[in-house]
Amino acid sequence: MLALWCSASSAAQPRRIVIAVSRALDGRGGVLTDTRLVVEGATIAGIDPAAAPIDYDLRGLTVMPGWIDTHVHLSWHFDARGRLSTGGDAPEEVRATAENARLTLLAGFTTVQSLGAPVDRTVRDAVNRGELDGPRILTSQTQINDPSASADALRALVRQIHARGADLIKVFTAGGSDAENYRLMSHSQLQAVCGEARVLGMRSAAHALSDGEARVAVEAGCTSIEHGTLASDRTLDLMAGRGAYFDPNLLMPHNYLDNAQRFGLSDKAVANLERSIATTAGVLRRARERHVKIVFGTDAVAGAHGRNAEEFVYRVREAREKPMDVVVSATSLAAESLGVWTTGTLAVNYDADIVATDGNPLEDITAARRVVFVMKRGRVYRSR
Ligand SMILES: [Zn+2]
Repeated sequence: MLALWCSASSAAQPRRIVIAVSRALDGRGGVLTDTRLVVEGATIAGIDPAAAPIDYDLRGLTVMPGWIDTHVHLSWHFDARGRLSTGGDAPEEVRATAENARLTLLAGFTTVQSLGAPVDRTVRDAVNRGELDGPRILTSQTQINDPSASADALRALVRQIHARGADLIKVFTAGGSDAENYRLMSHSQLQAVCGEARVLGMRSAAHALSDGEARVAVEAGCTSIEHGTLASDRTLDLMAGRGAYFDPNLLMPHNYLDNAQRFGLSDKAVANLERSIATTAGVLRRARERHVKIVFGTDAVAGAHGRNAEEFVYRVREAREKPMDVVVSATSLAAESLGVWTTGTLAVNYDADIVATDGNPLEDITAARRVVFVMKRGRVYRSR
C-alpha cells in the first residue's frame, strides 16, 4: 500500500500537510515561533505562518527535526527466554530487529546508524520498501576486528563489505582472538581500512577506548571516533583540527547497569561500568570545551531500543551539556556526520522528518522522553 503512496510514476500531486507550531528548534541552534510547516510528499516544501488549513496542530509542544542516533546495534535483544542474542538470520532474529527498529522510530528517532549485523540489511531494505515501520537505517552490517591482518588484506575486506551493500565500515582499533594476541592496529592498517572506505565513497567508524586507539584512528583519517572514553586533551584537539566526529555514549553504561543481571555482569564489570560514567561525562565536557564535533550515539543494545532519548537526559545531567547543544548533536550535526544531508534540519527542501515533545527540552530535558508526534519523510507514525 505504501508503494502506491510513494510511487514516483504517480502523476498525482503529492499530498500537502500543514503543521501548526508555536515553538520549533530548527536543529542548527535556531528557534522558530508561531508558524506553519508545509509538507508536500516527503519534503518540507514551505514554512509559512499563513498556510491553511491545519492538518496537525502541534502548538504548545516543542517541534524538532527527527532525531538521529549515530550508534545503535539494532539486532541485539533478549530472546523469549531472556537470553542475550546479538542477531542471526533466523526469522525470529529478523522479527526482533524489526521490532527494535519500530520502537526506535516511535521514540522519535527517524534515522539510525547500526554498527552492525547482517540482519540489519534485511530490515533496512524492508523499511525502504515500506514493508516495515522503522527509521532510515544505515548499517555497517559487520565489524572489522583483525589487528593481525595485512594492509592489503584489510583493503580487500573493505571492498567485500562494500559489495555486500554496507553503508559504512566499522573497525575496532584494537582486538585479537584472545588476550595474548590482543594488540592495537597500526597507523598503516587503520589507514588501509579508513582510506579504502573513503575511496569507495563510504565513511568509517572507529571503535576506540584508550587514548592511543583514538589518536591513531584520527590520524588515519577515520570519519568518527566511537566511545573515545580515555581520549586525552591532545587527542581531542587533534579531532577538532581534523574535523573528526566524536561519539561518546552514556546510555550504554547505564543500560548495562540497568540490565546487569540479564547481561550476566560480574561485580567487577559493574564497578567498571559505574566508573566509566564519570569518565565519559568528563571526556564529553572536555570535547565540548575544545569545539570537537560531538554527535549523538547511544550504543543502544538489548534493553535500550526505544529508550534512546535517555541519552539526552544523561548528557545534560551528567556531562552538563547545554540542551540546545545536545539537540544539535542529535539533528543537523549527526546528519552531517552520516552524510545524509537531507535530514536533521527544519528548513525548506529538507526531508519532512519531524518530532514533537510534550514540554520544552531546553527547560526540562526529560521532555525528550515525552515524544507525542513522529513524522518520517512526510508519513505520520505517531500522533496523540
Ligand atoms: Zn557499539
